Amino acid sequence: MDKKIWLSSPHMGGGEMKYIQQAFDENWIAPLGPNVNGLENDLETYLGEGVHVAALSSGTAALHLSLILLGVETGDFVICQSLTFSASANPIIYMGAHPVFVDSEKDTWNLCPNAVEDAIKFGISKGKKPKAIITVNLYGMPYKAEEISALSKRYDIPVIEDSAEALGSSYKNQKCGTFGDLSVISFNGNKIITTSVGGCLTVKNKEFKDKAVFLATQAKDNAPHYEHTSIGYNYRMSNVCAGIGRGQMEMLEERIQQRRANHRFYQELFQDHLSVTLHTEPTADYFSNHWLSVACLSPELGITRAELMEKFTEEEIETRPIWKPMHLQPVFRNAAFFGSDLSEKLFNNGLCLPSGSNLSDSDRARIAGVFKKVLM
Ligand SMILES: *Cc1c(COP(=O)(O)O)cnc(C)c1O
Repeated sequence: MDKKIWLSSPHMGGGEMKYIQQAFDENWIAPLGPNVNGLENDLETYLGEGVHVAALSSGTAALHLSLILLGVETGDFVICQSLTFSASANPIIYMGAHPVFVDSEKDTWNLCPNAVEDAIKFGISKGKKPKAIITVNLYGMPYKAEEISALSKRYDIPVIEDSAEALGSSYKNQKCGTFGDLSVISFNGNKIITTSVGGCLTVKNKEFKDKAVFLATQAKDNAPHYEHTSIGYNYRMSNVCAGIGRGQMEMLEERIQQRRANHRFYQELFQDHLSVTLHTEPTADYFSNHWLSVACLSPELGITRAELMEKFTEEEIETRPIWKPMHLQPVFRNAAFFGSDLSEKLFNNGLCLPSGSNLSDSDRARIAGVFKKVLM
């Protein structure tokens, strides 16, 4: 039997061990040290725009701290893209706040600006203007930054950019992860680069970074004993994990090219088949890292998504439906939702295809083989 082909598996570059060895040699086996600072510097240089980066234990921790830094309180409304992974929304619940979910628009599959405005007006009509807008760069595709920023300014509501999946993407040559008032990147094992588990918060304002690091290291006030005036968290990144990240940063450009090459492979595979459409940048302003390549299947394909997935499973190839929208999740059944049925339709017809930067030519041939049996 052939080796299993995963949707998106970790891809080591070789340089990671040097940084990990350094951590061991210098006994920096702790949630601080030269690799943590080094990774932050690497990311600040890469992202540009004068951002400050705080390396944290996960993207989810970064989202949680973002809401804390914005002063979200019990009972507040927070707007959140519905079509996303649950980690975008869970921290709203950690805060005792209420998510207001918003549908996608068809170009990028990210926040629909019109529906965002409806959600803002809903909050205002209840006497509670939403405290933040959580927007996502889904599967690496940049969101409509200008439209969402305009709403953010008009109503004076900060944006938290969940760029967990979009390191290496850009819009009009500005890197994703620099668009929000606060932005979040994930280095989980399935992302474009990884620290095994980890993430970071990127901010324009140095005070936000300092406050994030303070809260992420148990909120110890400046005193000889441990003095606390606020509640802290244990959210800093391990210096060993940061060593993996430093090695991975050396490979980032290549990883982006590899994921984009996968996307071109699928484009060619589907080009004469109108029954399968690949999610692609709407205009040349958008540059996606194509973290995952995603196809939408139409009924003309003559086979259901479940049947197609079964054919991949038989060949030891992992595929997965698009994220199930949060407003359709049992755990969020009482949350408000604005928009129409676009995210629901995408969920019903969309399929995430193997997209790892480590796919080989023979892996691609196996994937093409399954499609060629069903595409006519
Ligand atoms: C992976 C992911 C997260 C969470 O990041 P972790 O580092 O796994 O905590 C949040 N949002 C989205 C869209 C993600 O894909």
